[in-house]
Amino acid sequence: MGLKIWMNDGLADEADAKVSVFDHGLLYGDGVFEGIRVYNGKVFEHDAHINRLFTSAHAIRLKVPTDKETLKNYVRQTVDANNIKNGYIRLIVTRGVGTLGLNPLICKQGQLIIIADKIQLYPQELYENGLRVISASTLRNHPQSVPPQIKSLNYLNNILAKIEAIDHNMLEAIMYNHEGFVAEATGDNIFVVKERKITTPPISAGSLDGITRKVVMRLAKENGYDVREANLARYDLYDADEIFLTGTAAEVIGVVEVDGRPIGSGKPGPVTRDLLSKFEQYTRQ
Ligand code: PMP
Repeated sequence: MGLKIWMNDGLADEADAKVSVFDHGLLYGDGVFEGIRVYNGKVFEHDAHINRLFTSAHAIRLKVPTDKETLKNYVRQTVDANNIKNGYIRLIVTRGVGTLGLNPLICKQGQLIIIADKIQLYPQELYENGLRVISASTLRNHPQSVPPQIKSLNYLNNILAKIEAIDHNMLEAIMYNHEGFVAEATGDNIFVVKERKITTPPISAGSLDGITRKVVMRLAKENGYDVREANLARYDLYDADEIFLTGTAAEVIGVVEVDGRPIGSGKPGPVTRDLLSKFEQYTRQ
């Protein structure tokens, strides 16, 4: 038996959950999305994700075909219909059906899709031993092209960097911006620890305003860490005591090698491990 998928205003069987070949989400990557966790049957940071979806949609002049409270209700109904206690939600709004031309204003109605499923996690071994990453040569989108704050369906920028990682037998790559500063990883935000001070690039460096990033920054501050947002150069990665990534799926994961250079001790460090454990406590309470 397949999943129940939310399509516009009701649940459909997975086999019937289909979109038109004229949907501009498919034709042009014209749309926005969110990835959200469910922990113990509760939608994690539900409001923050719904708000970011509406902000992304607003930025591309896409009208979400429902209001925020109704959308939250649809999300909960989808989670319940699939009996998801711990899992992952993909919330998508495409521009909807149009013609083969670019003009988004021809698309009369946005298409809403909600998928609630099990989550694909990194293997536990990587949380213990850390990730190896490379610096991607593909730069993060210039803020005057597709602004990186928009969580749009057009992920080709990050996919090109991900291909570079895969070509190097790695799972992640670090993306830099047009000024040479660190932006983020292809699907996660990045943090550097130096002498117990924690630094993450500001959103203006070309990172997504990550919801895990925000929660981890708050937890770190509450636990007495010095947390700051500042531009980071490649040097700061090579010189770090610890590096970790944050994201909805990855949570908090250590990086132990960048461009073949070991970071710190070559194992996920004490700050990374502490924050992962604090994050786990917080999400599983
Ligand atoms: N950056 C990018 C490019 C992402 O796609 C994501 C989400 N996977 C993140 C950062 C992390 O954001 P969040 O913590 O909201 O999942």
